[in-house]
Amino acid sequence: MTVLYDTFGRPLNSLRIQLNASCNFKCFFCHMEGTDENSSTLSAEEIERVVAMGAKNGVNRVKFTGGEPLLRKDIEDIIRRTRKHISGDISLTTNAFFLKDKARGLKESGLNRINISMHSIEKDHFIEITKVDAIDVVEQGIDAALSAGLSPVKVNFVVLNGVNVHQIDSMLDFSSKKGVILQLIEYETDRSGESDDNYRKYHYDIKPIEDRMVKRSSWVEYNTLHNRKRIHVPIEDEREGVVEIVRPQRNADFCNHCTRLRVTSKGEFQTCLNRHDQLFNFRGKNEEEMFDTFKKAIDSRVPYWREEDEGTYQVLREIS
Ligand code: SAM
Repeated sequence: MTVLYDTFGRPLNSLRIQLNASCNFKCFFCHMEGTDENSSTLSAEEIERVVAMGAKNGVNRVKFTGGEPLLRKDIEDIIRRTRKHISGDISLTTNAFFLKDKARGLKESGLNRINISMHSIEKDHFIEITKVDAIDVVEQGIDAALSAGLSPVKVNFVVLNGVNVHQIDSMLDFSSKKGVILQLIEYETDRSGESDDNYRKYHYDIKPIEDRMVKRSSWVEYNTLHNRKRIHVPIEDEREGVVEIVRPQRNADFCNHCTRLRVTSKGEFQTCLNRHDQLFNFRGKNEEEMFDTFKKAIDSRVPYWREEDEGTYQVLREIS
């Protein structure tokens, strides 16, 4: 199988597929995977076709996202169809509202790992962030994912200035007790979004958190998949917490290691979360035309954040 490379030498081996654009949670910071809310969604057949084409051309990993992917009634069918073509990881990111009753079926259909968004461990803050009183349901979803054998289970926690930064140690403790990996994610946006009031108010630089976690750690693994550290932090009762840090904003290294192409729920390849101008529609195309579109999208990929952006970031933070 031939893997395709973009003009920056980055291999393309992963698809991030947006299954819908609607969500039952209303997180105020949500980037909507770089797309607009819309009612058009790819069918299970269309998803299988794009996955099959990708698999013939170097794709060996698929991540499903949304909106909220578990709102789709045909989610198990979609995963089964995907598993026919993909031998590597099939994962999904969810708010876990519907996970308790679905985890086993997802696993049986061929899902092997899952990311569960949980941006607060405190009920009030959870409601403030999502507008839904569902923290207990999410915890039940985590338990169900673990008992279904999905592995690893990761908890996605977007770090928000003035909202949940103080909860990081409690989240680590919670994750350690559950046996899941805590993923601390920087609040990200594109260049123009950096001057938005919301972003300026809630963005928090998580580099110092990463440095502190490494200092506290007993050992650090290197996740070659995403060029990311997995930090093992000792906590009381001889337990350890496991943390990964996702730091995309103005991080050239993050973009240099990007190996994914996005698929929007409308049936387009999108080269980057932040590139709303690089959408390549493949809907209704035959296999050969779809491949040409895929190739064109890959050839258009450019790392969004470059080395020269990193210094600018410091200046922005100082004046804010
Ligand atoms: N509804 C699903 C969920 O909540 O996981 C899937 C869609 S959501 C857009 C996918 C992931 O992106 C979630 O973990 C979410 O927290 C994260 N996310 C959304 N907006 C973000 C932002 N501005 N910065 C960083 N992460 C963000």
